[in-house]
Amino acid sequence: MSSARHTLEGVSGSFETLHDLSLARGTLDRAGLRRRDPDLLPLLLKDPLTRILELVEGRAQVLESGRDVALLLRSPQEQDGLRLVVFLGQDQHGTAYLGVVGQAQDASGTAPWRSLREVGVLLSDQDAGMFATVLGLANWHAVHTHCPLCGTATEPDQAGWIRRCPKDGTEHYPRTDPAVIMAVTDAADRLLLARSPKWPQGRLSVLAGFVEPGESLEAAVAREVLEEVGVVVEHVHYLGSQPWPFPSSLMVGFTGRAVDSALHLDQEEIAEAVWVTRQELAQMVAAGSFAISPTVSIARRMIERWYGGPLDSAN
Ligand SMILES: [Zn+2]
Repeated sequence: MSSARHTLEGVSGSFETLHDLSLARGTLDRAGLRRRDPDLLPLLLKDPLTRILELVEGRAQVLESGRDVALLLRSPQEQDGLRLVVFLGQDQHGTAYLGVVGQAQDASGTAPWRSLREVGVLLSDQDAGMFATVLGLANWHAVHTHCPLCGTATEPDQAGWIRRCPKDGTEHYPRTDPAVIMAVTDAADRLLLARSPKWPQGRLSVLAGFVEPGESLEAAVAREVLEEVGVVVEHVHYLGSQPWPFPSSLMVGFTGRAVDSALHLDQEEIAEAVWVTRQELAQMVAAGSFAISPTVSIARRMIERWYGGPLDSAN
């Protein structure tokens, strides 16, 4: 192995997994057992050393200095106790971190409010992990306000990690919806790129789809590729995963090899699909005719892994 392990080797047939995916870098100790303590949140909200990450409509306040971006964390405030509060964990010094889900009128202050898509690649490991966690939890709470069994309004419990129905006592846990995303190549090592009918001309990416009940991840890869472009894939190998809390996915990346490169599109799902060589992709990027996925996405990393290095673009 060369010393340049961090470079994108792009050698098809190499099954080294993707590391340092932007949103899979969390370093906080989640300290899950502490969530059971009913006094945990009240105690931490009284401690000025507790660090608060406030989320308002999917955005967090940041400190920006050139390419350096850090979450602007603060001490607890009185009104935090009136909000949805979640325990994010603790660092190696024992400092505790809480997420507070504020409301639109809370978005004040002079520092800018940024989305995870905007700053996910620029944040430190700890900050990126906290932002992804609080966003995923907040998205889940926002649309799981009532008991799915009896319709009663549920209440957050276990430091924001479950919701409980006060009528029948059922506990409801945060959802993470697995989605597979796959870099499919053909015998000539061309990469398959496709465009959803919802996307503008020029935006192409690798195929992706949700895993269905009763299905393995690898089976989902094979089914999605067959359904969307009519291609049978084999040699499906895991590449890496990262949370994608927009609103609640876990993206699980794979490579796959097409048995035959003939394409038969499902026009409802796929507006166009093409096999590209590395040279063709470089020309498309240079000509500005290819809107590549943002660097925060696993799709971008998968495309660059196949390509063999970073693809120039504004983001
Ligand atoms: Zn209920």
